[in-house]
Amino acid sequence: MLSDSYGRVATDLRVSLTDRCNLRCAYCMPPEGLDWLPSPELLTDDELVRLIRVAVERLGVREVRFTGGEPLLRRGLAAIVARTADLRPRPEISLTTNAIGLARTAEALHAAGLDRVNVSLDTLRPETFRKLARRDRLPDVLDGLAAAAQTGLIPVKVNAVLMRGLNDDEAVPLLRYCLERGYELRFIEQMPLDAQHGWKRAEMVTAAEILAALEREFTLTPDDPGQRGSAPAEGFLVDGGPARVGVIASVTRPFCGNCDRVRLTADGQIRNCLFARTESDLRSSLRAGADDAELADRWRRAVAIKLPGHGINDPSFLQPDRPMSAIGG
Ligand code: SAM
Repeated sequence: MLSDSYGRVATDLRVSLTDRCNLRCAYCMPPEGLDWLPSPELLTDDELVRLIRVAVERLGVREVRFTGGEPLLRRGLAAIVARTADLRPRPEISLTTNAIGLARTAEALHAAGLDRVNVSLDTLRPETFRKLARRDRLPDVLDGLAAAAQTGLIPVKVNAVLMRGLNDDEAVPLLRYCLERGYELRFIEQMPLDAQHGWKRAEMVTAAEILAALEREFTLTPDDPGQRGSAPAEGFLVDGGPARVGVIASVTRPFCGNCDRVRLTADGQIRNCLFARTESDLRSSLRAGADDAELADRWRRAVAIKLPGHGINDPSFLQPDRPMSAIGG
């Protein structure tokens, strides 16, 4: 098991497949992009699948979520999914994506064993999309979303980050859009994980503000808190249910005490928290010839030292060196 000294057990593995992205969302990256990881530093498909196998067979990981950067940019994604689906016990397999290109690939990914997707959609206005993501790709995102639902990659979850002055008036239209199509919407508070280090607490749209905006149009009833478990989203039934909406209030209502996640970056580093200041280098061990037992042992030690919380609200908080796109969100 991947347990830490506070009694938490990591069973949910987030695997970043690339640090590259085809969008430049303002809360994530500068317009010019970043210095991408050089190819020799990236795990090969075989290395990646081997580490996932170690996690599933030896460390009790039950869910594998592929992310990035943009995971659909990884060549060989369907084969990686298929090889993950062949592991026993078979993990749940999901994908966090901006959905650009998903309309073309959803069926192949589903056939390979992908169970479900989380799609990022922050705005329904093409002009705002251009400003926020600095690309003119809203129709591709909406097509990708529709394809995911049609293909049965369900429940389709939608992630939205609201930014003040840009899309903070879109909570209600986004929820209506998702309700009409059976997607489950979750709002994520903007976190200090942007490459530009431009996050400002005072500018962040809080979960409380988002819920207040929604409550002007809908009746929200808190979901049974017993049902939440380790889920990052606080759930609400909309107008009595069964439709739901969630808020992931990482900053104002942290949920670190129930965290069950561990991350593997595209260059083979284990991170026990999004905000960790240290990483554990599995790639070097792997390339130096470590056997599965040694890799598992290193991984256990990396999780054992997980801190009790992310510390965003501590005066001594320091943003991690890597941005979200290079960690795997
Ligand atoms: N490219 C994929 C996508 O768009 O979903 C996967 C990677 S992206 C880093 C994963 C999620 O992180 C997205 O939902 C995105 O909105 C969110 N995200 C990125 N930077 C963030 C930040 N600073 N605060 C909160 N969420 C952020």
